[in-house]
Amino acid sequence: MSNPLPSALVDSLAGLPGFNRASFEAVHTAAEKITSLRLNPLKLHTAAQREAVLQSLSPAGVSKVPWSTEGCYLPERPSFTFDPFFHAGAYYVQEASSMFLEQAVRATVDLSAPLRVLDLCAAPGGKSTLLQSLISPDSLLVANEVIKPRAALLADNLTRWGAANVVVSNNDPRDFSRLPGYFDLVVVDAPCSGSGLFRRDPELVTEWSPENVLLCSQRQQRILADILPSLKENGVLIYSTCSFSAAEDEAILDWLADHFELENIPLALAEDWNIVTTVTDKRNCTGYRFYPDRLKGEGFFIACFRKRGEAAVRKQKEQKTLFLAAAEQERLAAWVNLPEGYRYMLHQEDVLILPPALAADIALLQQQLYIRKAGVKAGQLSRKELIPDHQLAASTLLADAIPAADLELKDALLYLRKEDPRIDTTVKGWALMRYGQMNLGWAKLLPNRMNNYYPKELRILKEITGL
Ligand code: SAM
Repeated sequence: MSNPLPSALVDSLAGLPGFNRASFEAVHTAAEKITSLRLNPLKLHTAAQREAVLQSLSPAGVSKVPWSTEGCYLPERPSFTFDPFFHAGAYYVQEASSMFLEQAVRATVDLSAPLRVLDLCAAPGGKSTLLQSLISPDSLLVANEVIKPRAALLADNLTRWGAANVVVSNNDPRDFSRLPGYFDLVVVDAPCSGSGLFRRDPELVTEWSPENVLLCSQRQQRILADILPSLKENGVLIYSTCSFSAAEDEAILDWLADHFELENIPLALAEDWNIVTTVTDKRNCTGYRFYPDRLKGEGFFIACFRKRGEAAVRKQKEQKTLFLAAAEQERLAAWVNLPEGYRYMLHQEDVLILPPALAADIALLQQQLYIRKAGVKAGQLSRKELIPDHQLAASTLLADAIPAADLELKDALLYLRKEDPRIDTTVKGWALMRYGQMNLGWAKLLPNRMNNYYPKELRILKEITGL
């Protein structure tokens, strides 16, 4: 590790549950890089598909992240940029400790029920893609990010993930007070001082200071106070950070218990996970600490609460949504495999596909939030044809009989760079570009050339080498 750990940090951790100075410092000095990812069950249906994706990434095999259904460790870090499966949304590259959110969710909410879930601090989308994999198709996930360019990145990652039951919003936490008692589950993966990521990213060390820890702690309190009104009575709050500092972890749990009617929920852990349970002296709140010298993952902290007390009554005006007329819907039949209860909505020029829970609430959400993405954008209906959107290619709602061309690795990468791949097909017109049976995006095949419709903002910028 090039930057030594700040001594003020290490001194401040002395006495915290599970902290061992010698092994903590040693693991940071060794600076081992751990690579982990989580597969996308929405897109990988068979064992053979999973195997194909993992085998191409890691011929030497993978091992399982113990607390995650879909998470695995890779022995080496491959080039994800040059893996078409990455661009097709087959997996999300995620730090292993954060995958523990799955256990917290499974233990605290009924995943078979239709839920409204908020991931408040969501970019780039690690927790959101995980939450989407856990909830039922008739649940709704609002993935929010306050910083605009990061909200765009979040939307891109969720487009790749391909699910319809997701809304991406770009709002300040306080805006959610306009949705009192709306959510069954709120996840606050708070902005923090980041000490948990020092091993992976030693540059972060230079930004750390005790003053910043304090500022982060105050900001975390503000964010939590702003968001709690939007949580339903009996709803669940999951709070997490990637900081080791008690001011951002245990002290926040006590602050929550002091100021709100929240009941802390302890979780059951397997002993061999080596996750450390911490219980606060003041309010007896339980949280969980992840130390890189004890388990195969980075620093992380998580705790769960249930909201008690009076629920705010949600007064809602009747909202009107512009759903597509029946004649127009006919024109989409060749493109979309529309599940029962799903609706087409017209938003400006675009046709959006909304699952039932989202169709019911979209007008309310549109009125109260700044929405970047809702459901799946099918495309634009011109007088002659549908101009299909990339979101449709990335989604699982695409009709089966769409013409497609299967590309070799090099051509798939050329396509993803928005260059001209070699296409071996007699198909003309709109066609899906595919790799390993997974959709990459659209192209329009003309008699003498192709128009590459891969979105500019998603294209691979790096030069392809070694193929
Ligand atoms: N949950 C994300 C994931 O798993 O990929 C990581 C989230 S990161 C720890 C915290 C996020 O909070 C950042 O995207 C940051 O832009 C956002 N953020 C920063 N200041 C914020 C604020 N005042 N309110 C809400 N979110 C904020």
